[in-house]
Amino acid sequence: MRSFFPGHMLKKYDTIPDLQHVLAYQRENKKSIGFVPTMGALHQGHLSLIEACNNACNASVASIFVNPTQFNDPEDYKKYPKDNPIDWHMLEEAGCDFLFSPSVPEMYPDESTKKIDFDPGTLGERLEGASRPGHFKGMAVVVKRLFDIVMPDKAFFGQKDYQQYLIVKNMVAHFEMPIEVVKCPIIREPNGLAMSSRNERLSPEIRQGAGIIYKTLTKAAQQVRDNSISFDQIMHEGKMVLEGLGNFTVDYFDICSAIDLKPAHQNGPDDELIVLTAVYADGVRLIDNVLV
Ligand code: AMP
Repeated sequence: MRSFFPGHMLKKYDTIPDLQHVLAYQRENKKSIGFVPTMGALHQGHLSLIEACNNACNASVASIFVNPTQFNDPEDYKKYPKDNPIDWHMLEEAGCDFLFSPSVPEMYPDESTKKIDFDPGTLGERLEGASRPGHFKGMAVVVKRLFDIVMPDKAFFGQKDYQQYLIVKNMVAHFEMPIEVVKCPIIREPNGLAMSSRNERLSPEIRQGAGIIYKTLTKAAQQVRDNSISFDQIMHEGKMVLEGLGNFTVDYFDICSAIDLKPAHQNGPDDELIVLTAVYADGVRLIDNVLV
């Protein structure tokens, strides 16, 4: 584990050559580089990734880039908070070494930089992909571009976006990139609600009540382990509990293979399973999952 002296300074870069210059120096000095891509509006969930990164690598790089190509709803993109000096302060406090916060033209100087020879395939069409067409393609484009720029040894992703984590792993394998993709646990608010930049948009009452999402997922995961009722019944009950409260609309509440997110079959092969849900509360989309 690394320790930080008081006054640890975050160094901030918004152009590719400037960032690559300092990272080349790190590499020459045989320092391993860890990378945490984010869209800013940081919270403890993001900072836990920085901590994991600092524990595993000699130098930590975070990026803040709100990627327009991964929002299928322009209103959602507009509402997403950007350019927040509080984020820089939080990264510095967390001991992050380098921040890369490029502009859109810096990331995408021409059309060719918006294309990659990788398709998330059917994995990108299920669950989150079903209601956000093009989302995972856009995500893969920006993560590939960031990986090409930063060239980290390890990259850290939250289990909260489990589908994203799997697709990034597939993409790294597809391009044979020498990067280890590390999955980090979900950090939660005291009531169990998975931390998310979007939680700020919830009313205090709904935010408090949204702890039920994690409780319902945990119960479903236990029922899957017990294997005493059908998976269909577990998914139906989970959905009914959440919708029964009146404040939530469930997009999906599914039991899937944790390997490829295909629907799980009861008494199927001994794959690791995962229960995932997406819920609208106050018009805000919340996602969460529990590994069985
Ligand atoms: P975002 O800024 O929302 O794109 O998230 C950046 C990274 O933080 C992704 O790898 C997310 O999975 C991760 N992340 C977001 N929320 C949490 C959380 N509550 N716990 C752990 N990781 C998280």
